[in-house]
Amino acid sequence: MRTRLTIVGGGLGGLVSAISAREGGLDVTVFEARKDLGGRARTTSGDYRANWGPHVVYSDGPLWAWLDERGLARPAHRAPLSRRFFVRVDGRVHRVPPRKVVRGLLRLRSAEAPVDVSFSDWATAELGDAEAARRIAIFFGVATFDHDPGRLSAAFVNGLLKRVLQVPPQVRYIPGGWATLTDRLGRRARELGVRIQTGSPVDTLPAPPVVLAVPLARARELLDDAGIAWTGTRTALLDIGILRHRRDPFVISDLDAPGWTEAYSMADPSLAPSGEHLVQSQTGMRPGESLDDAVARLEELLDAGYTDWRGRETWRRRMAIADETGALDLPGATWRDRPTVDRGEGVYLVGDMVAAPGVLSEVTFNSAIDAVRRLTSRPKLVRVA
Ligand SMILES: Cc1cc2nc3c(=O)[nH]c(=O)nc-3n(C[C@H](O)[C@H](O)[C@H](O)COP(=O)(O)OP(=O)(O)OC[C@H]3O[C@@H](n4cnc5c(N)ncnc54)[C@H](O)[C@@H]3O)c2cc1C
Repeated sequence: MRTRLTIVGGGLGGLVSAISAREGGLDVTVFEARKDLGGRARTTSGDYRANWGPHVVYSDGPLWAWLDERGLARPAHRAPLSRRFFVRVDGRVHRVPPRKVVRGLLRLRSAEAPVDVSFSDWATAELGDAEAARRIAIFFGVATFDHDPGRLSAAFVNGLLKRVLQVPPQVRYIPGGWATLTDRLGRRARELGVRIQTGSPVDTLPAPPVVLAVPLARARELLDDAGIAWTGTRTALLDIGILRHRRDPFVISDLDAPGWTEAYSMADPSLAPSGEHLVQSQTGMRPGESLDDAVARLEELLDAGYTDWRGRETWRRRMAIADETGALDLPGATWRDRPTVDRGEGVYLVGDMVAAPGVLSEVTFNSAIDAVRRLTSRPKLVRVA
């Protein structure tokens, strides 16, 4: 007799939960609202393979290790370090960041940051240089997707610093985009005997045990619990296809305002037609800012580093997203203060805005593993078939 587990949501969190629960001997059914699995870990089909959300997996992190143990991580590409990296400072691109920014980053990386102070205040005091601290805070637009990363907890941003700025870089790119990873996970889940029903939105809370691997807003509705909330952010995304130019940079990191642009097809040529690049850009949207205005700022960032890209554009997608880029911890809060994974009575919450450590999708991953461990080690909480 096996415990029957229902999982709502077939994104990364739902699929990791399903595989681990099945490995733990549970009988698992996944309900996914969309016709395809993946959630935010999906990729456009056609000539331009643009990820909706995630781009990189950190190979020093728990998600990568778990995938690799199961033969699901590889092949994966490394960052093309021979390509051109730029930073934008005062409207112009440079090959290296200002020296005081580099020195500041190195110093902050080896320091212990407090939880209850903003990153801006802490970095300014630590470096004794408000301008260097301001530029460094702006740099963290890359991993926070926020318009003002300096407002976040110093400990939170510094945790990102230690992960994002590693030498050599630990980022890995899945060939064909994250849809490839979703396919690998879905296939593994089915091979293990997980039942997966796509095109099946769940409107009422299923009988426990149940894992809700859905965005926080949906979990709030299903559990009718207004307390399920955390800080997220609004972000503008601009993805373009362009005809290649030999001087195209791989990355432009904006140090004037939080923003990032990256030619992902340089890491993975399969993302764009031959002779073209897929360049994806993001910036945190300011309070009240329209998508048009945020996209105009991103276009200026492209102007700074991609020669005549407007005349070379072949494809475009733009969108504004809210609360889709993971949890942000404000001063005084850590991941432990976010909505708990174990909601009691056999209900578990999985996602990237719940109480689990990690960077971006690692939060989803860690919460999935946590939920399944609790489920499989506390059988009296769950119904037995
Ligand atoms: C622009 C952007 C860039 C990112 N970059 C990175 C990165 O480089 N690296 C990284 O690690 N992470 C990155 N992330 C974060 C990453 O995308 C997420 O952490 C991860 O995909 C979240 O997975 P999830 O399963 O928790 O949620 P989701 O992917 O949102 O999955 C939830 C699923 O639940 C389904 N669902 C919702 N309601 C219901 C219902 N009622 N019934 C049934 N199903 C339902 C949805 O359709 C969806 O498939 C990025 C995100 C964004 C938006």
